[in-house]
Amino acid sequence: MSTFESLGLSQQITEAVGAIGFETPTAIQQQAIPHLLSGEEDFIGLAQTGTGKTAAFGLPLIQRTDTMLPFIQSLVLAPTRELCLQICRELESFASNQPGLKLLAVYGGADIVRQMKGLERGVHILVATPGRLRDLMRRGKVDFAHLQHVVLDEADEMLNMGFKEEIDDILQSVPENRRTWLFSATMPKEVRRISEDYMENPFELSVGQQNT
Ligand code: ADP
Ligand code: MG
Repeated sequence: MSTFESLGLSQQITEAVGAIGFETPTAIQQQAIPHLLSGEEDFIGLAQTGTGKTAAFGLPLIQRTDTMLPFIQSLVLAPTRELCLQICRELESFASNQPGLKLLAVYGGADIVRQMKGLERGVHILVATPGRLRDLMRRGKVDFAHLQHVVLDEADEMLNMGFKEEIDDILQSVPENRRTWLFSATMPKEVRRISEDYMENPFELSVGQQNT
């Protein structure tokens, strides 16, 4: 039986994960985490809802963050305000032993001035809805010069919700030498197109049954 430690995660992270009650990694976590911890490839992870995709990308993102560098190193895009908050809280709990790691969620329907102030205070991992992020980028409030990872979470939902144009704008303006990790429950042609347009030879992992 695999453990979080055996996947290559640091003691700080495995202790944090244990403290929130995760005992055994799920199938997608077992297969994705070793890749994402050390890999320099783009990555597609397909697995049904509820299979633990947040930790599958979140734990490697946290381990790959250099808290000594005061830059946004990772961007997570998610379809809704609720998901952004949920992802941000879950990542905070994974990073509970790394108090220097700064996370921020930005999403629509909330005070943009507060979010701009949050960005000014410094962020390592930014979790965002596409619409609000594009707005903040247009206002010149987001510096992605040092961005290393872009995660498209619930990619099928983001496209269902009509965020294609925002996602195009964002992916066209972030540094090209970043890694892109795409997670989705399904792989309809719109999601396939995003991967073709913005990812390079992605490693594709599919766990369990997929409906397209
Ligand atoms: P998905 O994004 O695939 O829909 P989530 O990442 O939201 O799934 O995880 C679903 C639920 O399972 C969450 O409540 C999460 O905290 C929990 N969970 C994730 N991984 C584990 C694990 N290894 N052990 C126990 N619970 C887990
Ligand atoms: Mg999810």
